[in-house]
Amino acid sequence: MLRPVVQYPNPLLAKKSEPVAEINDEIRALAQDMLDTLKTVGGVGIAAPQIGVLKRVVIIDVSLEKDDPEAPQDFRVFINPVVTVIDPKLSEENEGCLSVPELRSKVKRPRRVALEGLDLDGNTVRIEGEGYFSACMQHETDHLDGKLFIDHISYLKRSMYDKKMKKAR
Ligand SMILES: [Zn+2]
Repeated sequence: MLRPVVQYPNPLLAKKSEPVAEINDEIRALAQDMLDTLKTVGGVGIAAPQIGVLKRVVIIDVSLEKDDPEAPQDFRVFINPVVTVIDPKLSEENEGCLSVPELRSKVKRPRRVALEGLDLDGNTVRIEGEGYFSACMQHETDHLDGKLFIDHISYLKRSMYDKKMKKAR
């Protein structure tokens, strides 16, 4: 089911999400709603708080690993995901967010990371990659700790954006 995407500066986006204790029908329905919403609005990833649920669930397009814009999207669910930095050297990717309208910005993050979590059957799944894929893994997991990509940009850029959004409301 398509759910409305929570938009910045809704305070829900700054909250920390709860770990999933049990993969039950509620979590399966949540993952389905996240997938339906992501496919409808378009994007490479979504985190549960973005549809208003403070649970540690993300969906990531793992086709990004191929670094080929022609590759068909391949959305995977990760429950209680944990990111490990493999190469801390920073790289800069151009990020955007379904919850942060009308802004894309370069963000510096560790170049290569791994992400490990559970799938909907409770199996441990691990992905690893760099560049834009690495940024995406970190961006989605950040949402579960109440962090947005605009928390990583310069103070000046951030305040310009905040001013613009205030005017728009
Ligand atoms: Zn986002």
